[in-house]
Amino acid sequence: TTFGFRDVEAEQRQGLVNGVFAAVADRYDVMNDLMSGGLHRLWKSDFINELNPPRGATPFRLLDVAGGTGDISLRYAGKSGPNATAVLCDISPEMLAVGQRRVTEAGLQNRIELVEGNAEVLPFESGAFDAYTIAFGIRNVTHIDNALADAYRVLKFGGRFLCLEFSEVQTPILDRLYDFHSFEVIPRLGQAVAGDGDSYRYLVESIRKFPNQERFAGMIRDAGFARVSYRNLTGGVAAIHSGWKI
Ligand code: SAM
Repeated sequence: TTFGFRDVEAEQRQGLVNGVFAAVADRYDVMNDLMSGGLHRLWKSDFINELNPPRGATPFRLLDVAGGTGDISLRYAGKSGPNATAVLCDISPEMLAVGQRRVTEAGLQNRIELVEGNAEVLPFESGAFDAYTIAFGIRNVTHIDNALADAYRVLKFGGRFLCLEFSEVQTPILDRLYDFHSFEVIPRLGQAVAGDGDSYRYLVESIRKFPNQERFAGMIRDAGFARVSYRNLTGGVAAIHSGWKI
């Protein structure tokens, strides 16, 4: 809020985003596979390898923001030792409900806790986590700078920030294919499978509006993170950004 007035436009935008995820929650996982041709699975394993959580008994505490139906937290739990725990935080009760079901089915309730919350004002103490991940989440947040500042706050000193997000395709020909896929294929798939072309049109637009690799790296630096770097996946269709609180 500015001078005590409500930021109505921002609230409306977040409201729209929440509506999109409430509408797609039940079909979210299947749509991810269809729309990315399974690529999101490779990107997510790559992301967990980058995080490289302890496989032994070392305690480790991850905060998985915008964790949705649990893809990151579940993969993390499968690749880490018994004292590596995660808190999955998401703003959408519908996405969390699917996530909770998957966590329970995997028998991981003792290692993954689900909490409803907004990335811009996380309901956690400062300095509480060894790592912060956000996968395909930050572009949905209304004020990215607020989310980055709060990521910095909740990390311990020595903690790591990792973000997996769609980015700018930097390969000729692939960029044309990608445009066709984004504007022609995805909305039609969304309509056909989820009965909801508009939600998927929103997703495509949000990807286009999101800052490119270099600009986003700059924003992470501005939030106070050190040793900021990024790595492109599939020619820049997605990218992993990394930063340290030191
Ligand atoms: N991380 C999961 C994955 O990779 O499959 C889910 C990604 S999904 C595309 C984006 C998620 O961001 C949704 O679950 C949505 O509810 C959540 N989200 C949107 N705005 C948010 C906010 N301000 N704070 C926390 N989560 C938010």
